[in-house]
Amino acid sequence: RKSVVVITGASSGLGLATAKALSETGQCHVIMACRNFLKAERAAKTAGIPKENYTVMHLDLASLESVRQFVDTFRRSGMPLDVLVCNAAVYLPTAKEPTYTAEGFELSVGTNHLGHFLLAQLLLDDLKKSDYPTKRLIIVGSITGNTNTLAGNVPPKANLGDLRGLVGGLNDLNSSPMIDGGEFDGAKAYKDSKVCNMLTMQELHRRYHEETGITFASLYPGCIAETGLFRNHIPLFRTLFPPFQKYITKGYVSEEEAGKRLAQVVSDPSLTKSGVYWSWNKNSSSFENQLSKEASNAEKALKLWEISEKLVGLA
Ligand code: NDP
Repeated sequence: RKSVVVITGASSGLGLATAKALSETGQCHVIMACRNFLKAERAAKTAGIPKENYTVMHLDLASLESVRQFVDTFRRSGMPLDVLVCNAAVYLPTAKEPTYTAEGFELSVGTNHLGHFLLAQLLLDDLKKSDYPTKRLIIVGSITGNTNTLAGNVPPKANLGDLRGLVGGLNDLNSSPMIDGGEFDGAKAYKDSKVCNMLTMQELHRRYHEETGITFASLYPGCIAETGLFRNHIPLFRTLFPPFQKYITKGYVSEEEAGKRLAQVVSDPSLTKSGVYWSWNKNSSSFENQLSKEASNAEKALKLWEISEKLVGLA
């Protein structure tokens, strides 16, 4: 049978390119878990993904209720779950004021981390039940969360501090919309959320890999300078960023190439090692990359896990 792969945020950018690459293998059925049903259907059609290779299901990660509903809908479909790809994200670098999820968490960390945290926990049972030989749970990371790289050192840098803002529920009612309890900064909130993604992947690996055989992995697919992620940036940035990445930093990858990279992490039999953060070098071969000190801090990963469980109502 075809393997069933759930991809969040498959209506554009990396998620869509990955759905297309997986569809082209002829071995996968992709569940496009998206907040905008019509946009996702149109995107699949425009990308030329054959109908029998995908199903669109509604998921709004900025609402924990919607996450639970998605899990119910998926289970009722009767399909097994072989691979989960947590890909969706919002990036709000020019926001002056914080915006919030349905439950009142700052939107970037609420969507990118907490929504996916609940989704991954709930779907872990479904992954366990699958008879697919290489079950995987992949969380898309980013270089911006790695302060051990040049790009990760562009201010504002990611820093979770002692997580006091997260303990307070990520809003200014109780403490602060930022994880570290500081002033709101949209670019930093995104980077913090990516550190959370990478810490979560490692904590999942420590807790569940041995017992379940599931491969947990994260990756930095390269700088895909043309995706919708930068839609909220100022126009001048959107014009200059792609050539800057192409010719100056040379970190640029096309959506198509990035999609092939993520598709490799989903289905390549040689990328089944668990607990790994994959990256690609200039000739597009994959290697196990190092994470920054904060993004590989096991104590912080545990603390993040325990606070997140409370916030999403699992503990
Ligand atoms: P896009 O903005 O093109 O894609 C993001 C996707 O997330 C969209 O499909 C969007 O849906 C979806 N999304 C946003 N909010 C929600 C929500 N509340 N519920 C469900 N889906 C939601 O950006 P990219 O393709 O660039 O980003 C994909 C991943 O790649 C992210 O995890 C990002 O951090 C990562 N990444 C990107 C890099 C880059 O250079 N672009 C570099 C490194 C990592 P909709 O279509 O409805 O807006």
